[in-house]
Amino acid sequence: MLFPARFDVIVVGGGHAGTEAALAAARSGAATLLLTHNIETLGAMSCNPSIGGIGKGHMVKEVDALGGAMAAATDEAGIQFRILNASKGPAVRATRAQADRNLYKQAIRGRLENQVNLTLFQAAVDDLTLAGDKVSGVVTQLGIRFEAPAVVLTAGTFLNGLVHVGLENYRAGRFGDPPAISLAQRLRELQLPVGRLKTGTPPRLDGRTIDYSVMQVQPGDDPVPVFSFLGRAEQHPRQVSCWITHTNARTHDIIRAGLDRSPMFTGVIEGVGPRYCPSIEDKIHRFAGRDEHQVFLEPEGLTTHEIYPQGVSTSLPFDVQLELVRSIRGLEHAHILRPGYAIEYDYFDPRNLKASFETKSIAGLFFAGQINGTTGYEEAAAQGLLAGVNAARCARDLEAWSPRRDQAYLGVLVDDLITRGVSEPYRMFTSRAEYRLSLREDNADLRLTQIGRELGLVDDARWAAFNRKRDAIATETERLKSVWINPRLVPEADALRVLTKPLEREYRLFDLLRRPEVTYASLLTLPGAGEGVAEPTVAEQVEIQAKYHGYIERQKEEVARSQASEELRLPDGLDYAEVRGLGIEVQQKLNQHRPETLGQAARIQGVTPAAISLLLVHLKKRA
Ligand code: FAD
Repeated sequence: MLFPARFDVIVVGGGHAGTEAALAAARSGAATLLLTHNIETLGAMSCNPSIGGIGKGHMVKEVDALGGAMAAATDEAGIQFRILNASKGPAVRATRAQADRNLYKQAIRGRLENQVNLTLFQAAVDDLTLAGDKVSGVVTQLGIRFEAPAVVLTAGTFLNGLVHVGLENYRAGRFGDPPAISLAQRLRELQLPVGRLKTGTPPRLDGRTIDYSVMQVQPGDDPVPVFSFLGRAEQHPRQVSCWITHTNARTHDIIRAGLDRSPMFTGVIEGVGPRYCPSIEDKIHRFAGRDEHQVFLEPEGLTTHEIYPQGVSTSLPFDVQLELVRSIRGLEHAHILRPGYAIEYDYFDPRNLKASFETKSIAGLFFAGQINGTTGYEEAAAQGLLAGVNAARCARDLEAWSPRRDQAYLGVLVDDLITRGVSEPYRMFTSRAEYRLSLREDNADLRLTQIGRELGLVDDARWAAFNRKRDAIATETERLKSVWINPRLVPEADALRVLTKPLEREYRLFDLLRRPEVTYASLLTLPGAGEGVAEPTVAEQVEIQAKYHGYIERQKEEVARSQASEELRLPDGLDYAEVRGLGIEVQQKLNQHRPETLGQAARIQGVTPAAISLLLVHLKKRA
């Protein structure tokens, strides 16, 4: 049965990757179908109810700059907002929000239901249809067929999902949701390179059984930050606090005594878990010398008593979970609403993907999200947007788009995945970006919104707001470069309020702003400095761009120098065995991974700078 007919793009999965993929494909003009197990779980947060953080917040802002949903949905659902690293440099400052799970799902679902060009349908996808080595559509559990020249798979933790609580285990996509077994089987038949990974989540608690009076309160920031470039603090619902408590020696003894029934420590779980988000049993084992670990108690929403205890993710048996939770200060009488658990699932080696996230072996088939070996909502959303827009472009035979490493964290993510693959669930950090001074949260719009507009992802309202901001920054920067401050007209006392020493000669406002002790606000108090701009995001940008001018210019030169060879395309049919002097191991690696550009080739593990020089010589001879 063919119902309702055919689409340009089909997206499978309504998690963070799938929803951004479907929205992006539809925004860019493709007739898009989103198929997911359950419409009620669109935008569901499988684990912690929070969005953002260092590296992750950067990607949320990039998704927003490209017209995506995550930041705006967080503004509507966020019940606590903080700027992390607020006292450090702008490159590592990051927004993090605690979200009300239900409000977040509502915000995402609302956007999906109201998106032009997008059709939603609840179904489990069991099969892919192929025409030769191209994807041609999908088949659901009920045998309904949908056709499209481009399909984006975003199945998350659901492919062959296996949930573990102690030595008990059963098949599921996550707690309470069915696994995707038939689809996983089909992908294995297609000989896509598959592996197993694992992730875990803590037990959830009933807030009415928690004694907060013995805990440290952690309020959000005041004034409350916003996530989206178009966000306003008035959009936020009521704001709440989180609390902090700690594990102790008794907690650790209880955990150690339970390790003989831990699926991780008895070898029942084979998949590798996230090193940067370890379970509590892993932490006790790895940091044996520590006698306490922090536990953040985070409200799951405004209309529920459910609390998420961040820091005690576990797959120990339920009786051990209960005992360990109740050994923690303030949780002595805590009621567990849902047990913690671990889940093992199939992922596919992302080295089998092009930079567009299209698989190299099956044309038109795209992968995004946890299926590519990543972890985290933000990583998933960023990949989803990229795969969605590229699936739409593929359906129209347009060239794929992918940002470079110097343009976006999304570029770093793509490049890391497709050139290096993953050996454990991959999450983003600012340290992964070599150009992090340029890849800041605050300038994600300046880096990406114009590109988003060209890709058809940015609507008129965002485009107009962006242009107003960009023009205001340029005008004010020009003004600061043209206004000179004359020491004769500035009393010494005034100068000393702003500067560490009096002005000895005439200076441009722009150059004064580059001094570490001068802020934009203090600069404007100098006689003759003018009124400046009132809009805080414009003022922030003017200040950052002036302060880091030298570094940013140097970074730009560095990028320009490496760009030509970085982007040099490697011919499709290139046989690396023919490259003179190239070692067998390097030949095999290049033949196996088939990088698209010289830059990608250089980042494959084991491919040395010497090998790249040989490759360059070979390419020049061929030309
Ligand atoms: P998901 O959010 O899993 O969404 C997949 C979607 O696809 C679902 O809607 C599902 O119903 C649908 N689907 C799957 N197969 C089919 C099919 N055949 N047909 C139709 N629909 C289908 N991240 C962290 O950063 N830190 C953590 O500590 C952490 N812990 C986690 C613990 C657990 C137990 C789980 C389950 C996840 C955890 N995560 C964690 C990961 C985080 O939830 C994911 O990274 C993120 O949700 C991935 O988004 P996604 O869109 O790729 O997949």
